[in-house]
Amino acid sequence: MSSLELLPINVAGQWRLGGGDVYESLYPATGEVIARLRAADLADVDEAIQGADRAFRTSGWAQRLPHERATVLHRAAQLIRERGEELAQKQRLDNGKPIKETRNLVASAAATFQFFAAACETLEESITPSRGAFVTLSVHEPMGVVAAITPWNSPIASEAQKMAPALAAGNAVVVKPAEVTPLMALELARICEEAGVPKGMISVLPGKGSVIGDAITKHPLVKRVSFTGGTATGRHIAHIAADKMMPVSLELGGKSATMVLEDADIDHAVAGVLYGIFSSSGESCIAGSRLFVARSIYAQFLTRLSEGAKALRIGDPASEDTQMGPLITARHRESIERYVALGVSEGGRIRTGGMRPRSVEFDKGYFYAPTIIEGLTNRARTAQEEIFGPVLVAMPFDSERELIEQANDSVYALAAGVWSRDFKRAWRIGRAVQAGTVWVNTYKQFSVSTPFGGWRDSGLGREKGRAGILQYMEQKSMYWGTNEQPLPWSQA
Ligand code: NAD
Repeated sequence: MSSLELLPINVAGQWRLGGGDVYESLYPATGEVIARLRAADLADVDEAIQGADRAFRTSGWAQRLPHERATVLHRAAQLIRERGEELAQKQRLDNGKPIKETRNLVASAAATFQFFAAACETLEESITPSRGAFVTLSVHEPMGVVAAITPWNSPIASEAQKMAPALAAGNAVVVKPAEVTPLMALELARICEEAGVPKGMISVLPGKGSVIGDAITKHPLVKRVSFTGGTATGRHIAHIAADKMMPVSLELGGKSATMVLEDADIDHAVAGVLYGIFSSSGESCIAGSRLFVARSIYAQFLTRLSEGAKALRIGDPASEDTQMGPLITARHRESIERYVALGVSEGGRIRTGGMRPRSVEFDKGYFYAPTIIEGLTNRARTAQEEIFGPVLVAMPFDSERELIEQANDSVYALAAGVWSRDFKRAWRIGRAVQAGTVWVNTYKQFSVSTPFGGWRDSGLGREKGRAGILQYMEQKSMYWGTNEQPLPWSQA
C-alpha cells in the first residue's frame, strides 16, 4: 500500500474522507500509484443527496437570473483554462492518455462550460398562440437533484458535459466518476465552488458503480440520471429509471462502421481510419472499429493502413510525440487479448499487431499494439461486440447496397464514417446509415454546439447543442388569464 495521503471527496460541499474502501489510482503507463482516496459509502450517498436537495431549495442558485449563473460558469471555464496544464497532466496520470489528448480534453471541458453559460443566458421561453382568454407560455424549470455517472475514458470532458448544463439549468448535481479515474470530477467540483457555485450544489462520490452508482440512481430525491458508460450498465439504469418514472439519458457503447469507397482520397482515408480507431488506444465509444473498403482498392488500402499502424508511436504518455499510450488497466488489456484470440478462433487473420509491444519501456504499463484483423464477416462476434481497444476488423465490400446493409447490421448505432470524393454518393450513404453521428471525409471531430448521442443499444437522448441544457429541465405550460368576466361556473 502506498504512503500517499488520502484525498478527500465532496459530500454535499464538505471536503472529507469518504466512509468506504480505499481506492488507488494507478498510472497505466507504469502501474505506479498516483493518488489514493477513501471512496464514498452508502451513508455518504444519502447525505450528499439530502444535502444537494437542501442546497437546491435554499442556496438561491436556481433563483439566480440566467445571466448571473452564466457569469459563474464563465468563471469556471476561465479557471479550467488557467489550470489547464496541471489538469492535463493529472488526467494523463489518472487514465494514461497521451498528453496531447488530455490537453484537448481539458480545452473541451472549458469550452463546454463557456458554451452552456451562453446557452443558459440566451435560453428563450415561448409564448404559444393563444386559443382563449389567456396568454399561453411554455417555460422550463430546473429539476432539483440530478446525477451524472461517468466512465474512465475521457473523464474531464464527459464530466464537464454533464455538470455544465446541469448547473446552468439551476440544478444540484451529484457526480459518480468511474472507479479508476476519480480525480477530474473532484478537480471540477473544486473549480466550480471557487467560481461561485454554492457549496452543496455539487457532490462527488467516487466508489463502486454497482453499489454507489446504483444507490444514487435509486435514491428518491434524484430526479434525473445522465449516464455515460457501457450498454449493460445503461440498461440496468434504464430499468431502475422505469420503476421510478425518472427520465434518463444514456450515452452507451458503439461498434462504428468506417466506409472507404473506391474514389476516396486515399491519403486522407488512411490517416482518418488510423486516427478513428487507434487514437485513445481505441478506448473510445466512437472508435471506428469496423472498416469496410471497396474490394477494388482493398488490397492496396490495407497495405497502406497496416504500414501506418506499424509506424504509430506507442509509448510514454508524457511525451509530446506519443500517439498511443497504454490501456486503462491490466484487466482491460486481458479482455482485449481475449477478443483478439476470439477473432482468430472465428477464422480471422492478424494483419498487424495482435500482441503486446516488446521493449523494456512497455514492461510495466498496459500497452497493446495497434491490431488489424482480416478475413472475418460482419456477423463474427469480433465484428459485432464492442472491444473498446486498438482492434480494427477490416472487410471488403462489393456494392453500395451491401455496404449499407452491413454497416447497419449491428445492435449499436453510435457513429459512422464515409470516405469518398463523390459528394452525392457520400450524401446518400450518410443519410442511409443509422447512427447518431456521421462523419464524411473526416472522423472523430467534435463540437459542443452539435448534439451527440446514439441510436439503439448506443443510447437514448442527446448531449451538447443548445438544447442540451433542456434535458436537465422540466417543461411547464402556463395559462395567464386575461378574462374580463369570471369563468362561467361562478355565475351561479
Ligand atoms: P461502465 O458501464 O462499466 O461504467 C460507467 C460508470 O457506471 C462508472 O462510473 C461505473 O462505476 C458506473 N456503474 C457501474 N455499474 C453501475 C450500476 N449498477 N449502477 C450505476 N452505475 C454503475 O463503463 P466503463 O467501462 O467505465 O466505460 C466504457 C464504456 O463506456 C464503453 O462501453 C464505451 O463505449 C462507453 N462510453 C460511451 C460514450 C458515449 O458518449 N456514448 C462515451 C464514453 C464511453
